[in-house]
Amino acid sequence: MLNPKQNINALHAYTPGKSKEEAAKEFGILTWVKLASNENPFGSPVSIQDLEPALKSAALYPDQATHSLKQDIATKNAVPVNTIVLGNGSDDILQMLALAYLGEGDELLTSECTFSVYAHVAHLVGARVLTTPLKHDAYDLEAMESALTSKTKMVMIANPNNPTGTSKNEHELRGFLDVLPDSCCCVIDEAYIEFSSEPSMLKLLDEYPNVVITRTFSKLYGLAAFRIGYGIMHPEVAQVLEKVRQPFNVNSLALEAAKIALNSDSFIQQTLENNVEQMTWVRNELSNFPCEVVPSDANFICIRFEKDAGSIVQGLLERGVIVRHLKSFGLPNAIRVTIGKPDENETFINALKESL
Ligand code: PMP
Repeated sequence: MLNPKQNINALHAYTPGKSKEEAAKEFGILTWVKLASNENPFGSPVSIQDLEPALKSAALYPDQATHSLKQDIATKNAVPVNTIVLGNGSDDILQMLALAYLGEGDELLTSECTFSVYAHVAHLVGARVLTTPLKHDAYDLEAMESALTSKTKMVMIANPNNPTGTSKNEHELRGFLDVLPDSCCCVIDEAYIEFSSEPSMLKLLDEYPNVVITRTFSKLYGLAAFRIGYGIMHPEVAQVLEKVRQPFNVNSLALEAAKIALNSDSFIQQTLENNVEQMTWVRNELSNFPCEVVPSDANFICIRFEKDAGSIVQGLLERGVIVRHLKSFGLPNAIRVTIGKPDENETFINALKESL
C-alpha cells in the first residue's frame, strides 16, 4: 500500500454543509430550505446567455492575463491591479499563501472555532497550528499576541469570523499588527466583509506590507459553484503567489461570471437589504426561544442552546430545513444558520419551534 507523508495522514477531508441532494436521499423530502453554507439566497446574478461566449470557447484554456476581471476588482477597491491574485475560491489563495510562506517547523497562529481551512492548509505543508480560545465569541487578539513565537510565520484572522459572525475593528487589528514582526504574514479573511458594519481593512495594506486581504465571490455575489475568490496584497507578495498559482486555476466561466456579478448593483443591493431586514426579523423571533444569539456582522447567525444541538439539527432536517451543527467547530451546543429569504426564514423559525 502507498504511504502518504505523515502530515497528510493526520489530515481530515473537509466536511461541507449537507447538500439538498444528500438530504433528499436521506429523508425522502423533495423540497428543502438550505441555510447551511452561507450562500446567496437569491441565487446568482448571472444568466445562461451571459455565459454563452465563454461556453463557446470551452475548448480553449482560460486567459486571466487578458481578461478584464482583475482590472474591475482593482477599480472597485481603488488598488493597483498588480496587488490582486485570483484564486479558485478564496480557499485557493489561502493554500497558495501556505505553500509560499509556511513549512515544516513553522507555526500558523489562528483562533479556535474558526474556518477550518486555515488549519488544513498549514497541516498540508507540515506546519504546526496554534490556536487561542475565542473571547466573547470573537478572536482574542491579546491572547494571540501572547501566543506568538519566533516560529510564527503566518496568522489567519476571519473578519467577520465564521461561524460566530463577530468582527474586530481597525483599532484592535492595528494594535495586533503593531506587535507582529514584519516577517510574519497576517491574512485578514474578508469572505463576509460586505455584510459587515466594520469597513474592509484594505486601508492597512499600505502601512503593513505583511498583510494579505482575501475575498470571495461565493457569498454576496452568489457564485459559490464557480469557485472564484481573490487576494489583495503587496505587489511583491502577489508576484510570489503568481509563481505558486496553478497555471489555469480560475476557469473561463468563473472569470466571466465574476465580472458580471461584481457590477450587478441591484442584485447586490437586494441581497444586502434582505440580509439587514431578515437578520432583525430572525433575531426578533429567536428572542422568544430558549437560546442565545451571537450578534452577527455577516449573512448568518450562530445560535447557542443549553444542550447539544444535534437533536435540534435532526429535528430541523426532518422538517426540510438544513442548518450547520457547530460540533466540528468545537461548539456542540450551537448551530449556524444562513439568513435566507423571508419565506425560508419563516420555515426555519416554524421548524425550530416544533423541533424544540
Ligand atoms: N473564508 C471563510 C471565513 C469562509 O467561510 C469561506 C467559505 N465557507 C471561505 C473563506 C472560502 O470561500 P471560497 O473558497 O468559496 O471563496
